[in-house]
Amino acid sequence: MVNTNSVLIIGAGAAGLAAARDLAAAGLAVTIIEARDRIGGRVHTIRDQSFNLPVELGAEFVHGKHPALIKLLDTSLTPFSDVTDRHWYFENGVVSRSHDFWNKLTALFDLMSKEKPDQTFAQFLDSLPDDPETLRAKAVATRYVQGFHAADIRRAGVHGLIAANEAEDEVGGDHSYRVASGYETVLQRLTEEAKQRGAVVQLNTPISEIHWSTNNVEAISLTGERRFVASRAVITLPLGVLQQNPRVPGAVRFVPALPEEKLNAIRNIPMGHVVRIVLVFSERFWERLDLPGIGSHEDLSQLGFIHYPDAAIPTWWSLLPLHAPELVGWVGGTGAEKFAGKSDSECVSAALHSLKKIFGVSETNLRKMLLHSYLHDWNADPFSRGAYAYLAVDGLDAQQELARPMRKTIFFAGEATSVGHIGTVHGALESGQRAAKEILAGL
Ligand SMILES: Cc1cc2nc3c(=O)[nH]c(=O)nc-3n(C[C@H](O)[C@H](O)[C@H](O)COP(=O)(O)OP(=O)(O)OC[C@H]3O[C@@H](n4cnc5c(N)ncnc54)[C@H](O)[C@@H]3O)c2cc1C
Repeated sequence: MVNTNSVLIIGAGAAGLAAARDLAAAGLAVTIIEARDRIGGRVHTIRDQSFNLPVELGAEFVHGKHPALIKLLDTSLTPFSDVTDRHWYFENGVVSRSHDFWNKLTALFDLMSKEKPDQTFAQFLDSLPDDPETLRAKAVATRYVQGFHAADIRRAGVHGLIAANEAEDEVGGDHSYRVASGYETVLQRLTEEAKQRGAVVQLNTPISEIHWSTNNVEAISLTGERRFVASRAVITLPLGVLQQNPRVPGAVRFVPALPEEKLNAIRNIPMGHVVRIVLVFSERFWERLDLPGIGSHEDLSQLGFIHYPDAAIPTWWSLLPLHAPELVGWVGGTGAEKFAGKSDSECVSAALHSLKKIFGVSETNLRKMLLHSYLHDWNADPFSRGAYAYLAVDGLDAQQELARPMRKTIFFAGEATSVGHIGTVHGALESGQRAAKEILAGL
């Protein structure tokens, strides 16, 4: 006999843990089933051996002040600090503070319209004039959509981008913060809260099959040795995992299969790609460099972000306001796809080559100063299969379909289901809380 107040949560990332905490608080019997040997999913903090710094391999920034995330930070007394938002930008071999970066971007985004039929971002850009000023704004916007949204501009839909901009405005997302103790500590706190309310966490348990009928779910582990039964389930599997062909090893098979509308929604929301690399050096070498274009009243000790569009890894940032000998490199979208199948050492070489272009320091010298490099291939990771989702043309409808519960038994959460806050930790948290509410409303 299935306990009518029991819920399985598939995945212990931000979405699954938020759903688990709220459902357990409401008195339901909650079991969280996680494939990895850790909680957190795409929030993954390790520590650098030399400087005991938290090193983020997944999410790093708290974008704005979304209530779900800020409440969690506040109640757990987790300190978080402002990110220094100083952007430097290379153009024609000269570096300068990109004062007008956000102005250009906002002015161009303001031309996008919800009232017109949806179109790709590339089509939208093509519809604009080609005078030098607009061309520069187009280049800035292209880099932003590729980098921040990890998107291919030939697929990203304008309506989805407007929803993301509106959601960002609501939470003041143009300002970011960092969790001083590492992002994963926030999710550890959430896990503790869920456990205190009776939730059980099963790690090292990849699920390969989910058999379901109304008010009855059975999740079967990959080895077939473990079976979990409950009256409902919240599926927080990353979109990239849901997109895997059920016949491929590591994929999750639903029995009966998901309906065609759900499968179409899963196919029609793209999973974005990102390469994120952390390099820890013996010293903050960039602080003593004198690059052409830097005025006498400024120096690179105040370098927040630096953008060099022609480099394979074009965006880099320091940990400012913390002066640490660490630089983080980032490339998203089609630029990141070029790294598919590359080894860690090939990625490190590309990173050093990019830094050589930016700072004019030889690769030999950079290698001498390099102590450690850290990266995680989220694309090849069988439990994520990509970095985070973005919306294609008419993607808001697909997203609604993806989030729709099935027979009040199978519920869906995860960043890909979060309207506007797609691709973020707070979006994932919000989606878990939404799924928990849906379950509680149906009891
Ligand atoms: C490199 C990178 C940088 C990012 N930077 C930021 C940032 O700065 N700020 C921000 O807000 N967001 C950022 N994000 C996005 C953010 O990390 C995600 O949106 C969010 O963490 C997703 O949470 P989730 O619960 O939806 O999914 P996940 O965290 O992926 O959780 C899903 C869980 O399901 C598990 N799972 C998968 N398959 C199975 C299976 N078969 N059986 C059981 N369990 C399974 C996974 O192991 C995982 O733990 C970044 C993401 C990446 C990859």
